[in-house]
Amino acid sequence: MTQDLRIDGARLWATLAETAQYGAIAGPAPDRPGLCRLTLSDEDAAMRRWFAQACQAIGMTVTTDRIGTQYARLPGSDAALPPIAIGSHLDTQPTGGRFDGILGVLAGLEVARTVQASGTTTRHPIEIINWTNEEGARFAPAMVASGVFAGVFTLDYALAQTDRDGVTMGEALAQSGFAGDETPGGHALAAHFELHIEQGPVLEAEALEIGVVSGVQGIRWFDVVVKGQTCHAGTTPMALRRDALHAAARLAIAVDEIGRSDPGASLATIGLFQAYPGSRNTAPGEVRMTVDLRHPDVAGLDQLEAKLRNAMSALQSQLRVGMTLNLIWSSPPVSFDPGVLGAISAATQRLGYSHRAMLSGAGHDSVYTARVAPTGMIFIPCENGLSHNVAENITPADAERGANVLLQAVLDYDRGQIPANAG
Ligand SMILES: [Zn+2]
Repeated sequence: MTQDLRIDGARLWATLAETAQYGAIAGPAPDRPGLCRLTLSDEDAAMRRWFAQACQAIGMTVTTDRIGTQYARLPGSDAALPPIAIGSHLDTQPTGGRFDGILGVLAGLEVARTVQASGTTTRHPIEIINWTNEEGARFAPAMVASGVFAGVFTLDYALAQTDRDGVTMGEALAQSGFAGDETPGGHALAAHFELHIEQGPVLEAEALEIGVVSGVQGIRWFDVVVKGQTCHAGTTPMALRRDALHAAARLAIAVDEIGRSDPGASLATIGLFQAYPGSRNTAPGEVRMTVDLRHPDVAGLDQLEAKLRNAMSALQSQLRVGMTLNLIWSSPPVSFDPGVLGAISAATQRLGYSHRAMLSGAGHDSVYTARVAPTGMIFIPCENGLSHNVAENITPADAERGANVLLQAVLDYDRGQIPANAG
């Protein structure tokens, strides 16, 4: 019975530990290094070679596309079916942890090892994907290879992006030996599953084992400029001032209230706040600030933006200042596929793991694969919600549970036992 199949948690943990040699940097303890494995660096190339060899060792075929994304395929019984993909990334931030992205790819390898060793043959091929440059730490934008795969960016655009030293992504691919010949997006995926650490504190705080990730919230970034009048701190009566900092502070309070207006759904953040000219005895005439609004659905985002605009126009007339709002980036919400989520939920329940539905606050390759294939994500807890940090940590038991959900969800989906639009 494939429903009785379980991954080998000790083997998965050993794989995570072994591959942490590629790009290891000092971490919180000698047995807990951090990682600096920038995409297409020597360390990343070593990791990629290790990954390809480990996959080939169990009979998988490894191909690489023109943006360096690696596809390791375990054949299925029906050659006409597209593969069920298990994807994430092996690159890290400059002072990153050992699990962000890496868990998703190496758990895919563990799933393939388990399936192969059991003598089971799935109907669909199983394909483990290492997406190039997910982090965006060396080349912007982030998630660029999955974006090219999904047609969000052109290949030429991606290959022309440069790092801080002026090296293009195309040059880095050639230097690293990972410029493949496959066309990104050139083959269809039956589905895309991604196991990832939560990178936030919710599962740990609620003592839950698995997050069934229903989607990724939408994001809107704004620049705000508040203009009043610079004036002398000693000679200008309070009633006559048009203090841009005072107005901006009132707006900051309004933004916090907007963030609390739809509890559990809305988030509003001012990340940057600068007053000019910046002198102790001068009331500021100008403030520049940023606003980051997030919500799971477009109507909710629209409402948050409307509340922001209302707050601004009220403050402008009340405090006699000018305020401008400029939308500089918008990322629409993503809803993952009900069939893939159904497979993840059913597997989680059958395995007896505590769980909740949740949204991802961060971007992932799954955001883009969702445009071209039924997609879903699984989260496991991470210590103190820390990520993009050398202290990033998970427990072996959580890694094992996440990989077992991944295995069982993929097998269920392959059999089409979930009400799904598989294949
Ligand atoms: Zn990641």
